[in-house]
Order: sequence, then structure tokens, then C-alpha cells
Amino acid sequence: MTTAPYTAQDLQQLAEQAGRDLEEASALDVLRWAADTFGPRFCVTSSMEDAVVAHLASRALPGVDVVFLDTGYHFPETIGTRDAVAAVMDVNVITLTPVQTVAEQDAQYGEKLHDRDPDLCCALRKVAPLEAGLKGYDAWATGLRRDESPTRANTPVVGWDARRQKVKIAPIARWTQGDVEAYVAEHGVLTNPLLMDGYASVGCAPCTRRVLEGEDARAGRWAGIGKTECGIHQ
Ligand code: SF4
Repeated sequence: MTTAPYTAQDLQQLAEQAGRDLEEASALDVLRWAADTFGPRFCVTSSMEDAVVAHLASRALPGVDVVFLDTGYHFPETIGTRDAVAAVMDVNVITLTPVQTVAEQDAQYGEKLHDRDPDLCCALRKVAPLEAGLKGYDAWATGLRRDESPTRANTPVVGWDARRQKVKIAPIARWTQGDVEAYVAEHGVLTNPLLMDGYASVGCAPCTRRVLEGEDARAGRWAGIGKTECGIHQ
């Protein structure tokens, strides 16, 4: 296992080379490469919609850091999934929180900022805490999939996160929803109970609704306001 202090230039070269070499690799092989290359300077982020990528990563790197953003607006089921993952899986769950509590944010910006300026709310409660939390890592993995929505159709399996100067890995980018369900069934992976209650994608409670027949998986996120991403992946 290598834990060399990579420079940003090293990391970009690694990302570009791996992006070419690993496009067709299995998700587990992609994560084994990440584990071998970055060791403890690699983490997984999870929205706790399911624990598929965390499970895969724990097979490649037992005890891997799994980073969860607690915005203060999550469904109880999401917090429960986080707690269950921490209790039963061979991972190290790290919960990141925004600088301000919801009450402090309300006091400064007014209540329900998510209804009036969701981009600012996401910047404060998601993007900024993640930026801070990723500082100690060279590479991070996400559960992004190309089939989730048109905005994610070109997600690279391994790419260069220029904004954060890190390697960004989407080991299941090429998976379908059916692939996810098959992996969950085969390995008994924890999933958020809301997935069984009409939610296809689970975010903060004020900004998430159930999806309708024929909608893509992320249609229930910020529905009706033209927002499709929180800003973390842009
Ligand atoms: Fe705020 Fe909604 Fe973004 Fe959560 S998803 S941080 S509640 S705007």
C-alpha cells in the first residue's frame, strides 16, 4: 500500500491515467486500485440512500472512511441508516456538519432558506462542509451513476476533481438500477427504508418527494424549481 505524499500534479496524472485504464474495470477492481494507491488518504462519501459503495469499498479497504454530510434536514430514516451502517459494517463513519445549526442559519438568513434560495442553503449545508471534510484525502469515491439522470450521463469512473484538486472516483458509474438491486440482494446491503416507500433518490426532507411512474430517479429532488444538483458534483 502506498501512502506517498502526492502533489496535485501527481494526482491529476494518476486520475487521467486511471480514467483511461479503469473505464471498463469492475467496481471492486476500481476500489482496489484506490485502496492500493491512496490507502487511508482515500474515502467514500455516502448520502445513506444505500450502502452499496461503502460495502464495496470495505471489501477493498476494511475500515475505510465513509463520510456522511448531516445537513440537519435529513429524514429520520437516513440518520437511522447511517447509524446502522456504522454499527454493522467494517467502515469508519465520519459525520460532517455545517458551521451553523439550522437554528443559527434561520437566525441569520430567515427560516426555510431551502425554499427561498436552495443554492445558498446547499452551499452552506453541503458544499462547504464537504470541502472542509475532504481536505485530508487525496481521493474520494461517490455513488454517482450515469443512468440516474441526464446531468450524470457523462460521469467518469475515475476523473480529476479540479475544484478540490483530488481524484474523484465513481466506481458504479456504469451500473444500472438493476445492478444496484442485484448487489444489494446478493450481499444483504443496508438500504434506506424510504427506497421502499416511493423515494428513488433520498436527500434532505424539505427538498425531496416521491417519484412518479416514468420519472427518472432524481426527479423527486428539488422538484419544480429547476434545480437538479446540490453543487457538490458540479
Ligand atoms: Fe438545504 Fe434542501 Fe440543499 Fe438540504 S437539499 S442543503 S435542505 S437546499
